[in-house]
Amino acid sequence: MSEITLGIIGGGQLGSMLAISAKKLNIKTVIYCDDPDAPAQNFCNKFISGTYNDKEKIIEFVNLVNYVTYEFENIPFETLSEINKLKPVLPKPSVNRLIQHRLAEKDFVNNLNIRTTRYASVENESEIEALDDLLPGILKTTTLGYDGKGQYPINSIEEFNSLNIDFSKGYILEKLVKLKKEISIIITRFNIQKYEIYEPIENKHEDQILKFSKIPADIDKKIYNQSKDWAMSIAEELKYVGTLCVEFFIDRNDNLYVNEIAPRVHNSGHLTINAYNVSQFENHIRAVCGLEQLPLKKLSNATMVNLIGDQISEYRKLSKFKENEFFFDYLKKEIKEKRKMGHLTTLV
Ligand code: ADP
Ligand code: MG
Repeated sequence: MSEITLGIIGGGQLGSMLAISAKKLNIKTVIYCDDPDAPAQNFCNKFISGTYNDKEKIIEFVNLVNYVTYEFENIPFETLSEINKLKPVLPKPSVNRLIQHRLAEKDFVNNLNIRTTRYASVENESEIEALDDLLPGILKTTTLGYDGKGQYPINSIEEFNSLNIDFSKGYILEKLVKLKKEISIIITRFNIQKYEIYEPIENKHEDQILKFSKIPADIDKKIYNQSKDWAMSIAEELKYVGTLCVEFFIDRNDNLYVNEIAPRVHNSGHLTINAYNVSQFENHIRAVCGLEQLPLKKLSNATMVNLIGDQISEYRKLSKFKENEFFFDYLKKEIKEKRKMGHLTTLV
């Protein structure tokens, strides 16, 4: 068997879990991250720390690997496309550029005749007056947002005026969906019409941060099928290679909307590590490195709880878990409020 070395950009919990899966498949990993304390250095074969536009260090990284992938979407497009001239970057840099911009992403989804919440671009203060029918809504920065960062709930024009938003950045105003539930689909695309797709996962957020996920999702057959179909259309249209997540809203009238796409493995898919024969991480590695596609088999229903901030502390003290419980500590150096520190999956 030929030796494969995979380069991963980003060294957080997702990078760690990708590196763990790669090891299981006998694939070596080199992780590149701007954080010298990145937890994934505990799990990879080699770790390089540098900024995402440090050309020299990035070349050093690229020279060590056969393929490059990434664990988060906010990597400069130029960096990914320069790397792609030397080694295959998967998913393709153009996919990342599209999805890291909330407006481009939503336009793309709507062009596939897939429903999203209503939205408009907002570039300065005066524009909001004309967007009354999108209120109550959420104003979000078009780029660089995650875990609810860069988001402002807005109920009225008066409320907006009192906010003092920094308009050197671009924004999108989204109509607030009256949520009944949120679900996500994790899908791995290998090639044309070749997928492995996990069943819909039901998600609960607290303070716009994912707190809880479970399978099966408590949804009807129509939403079950529609969410899978939409995820497949999106992956196919993007000619995607690797694991992708589509986040959905379900409103109180049982309408399904795409919320956003993550061009990567996703927190809501952590339960696939224990609940399936092949996890979202292993599938990502298999697709990106051109390994065999194995048919997915669900082993168990499951729940997953994120351990945020100092919620991790009591779990770190435990020396034993129940047979059906799986505790993951991301080994982040510092406990911070609202920081995802670990998770607990329970097979049920
Ligand atoms: P992030 O990139 O931070 O994950 P999201 O757009 O997914 O941003 O928003 C995070 C969470 O905030 C969503 O999962 C949902 O709970 C809530 N939210 C965001 N936008 C809307 C909306 N238009 N209507 C209702 N809830 C929303
Ligand atoms: Mg989200």
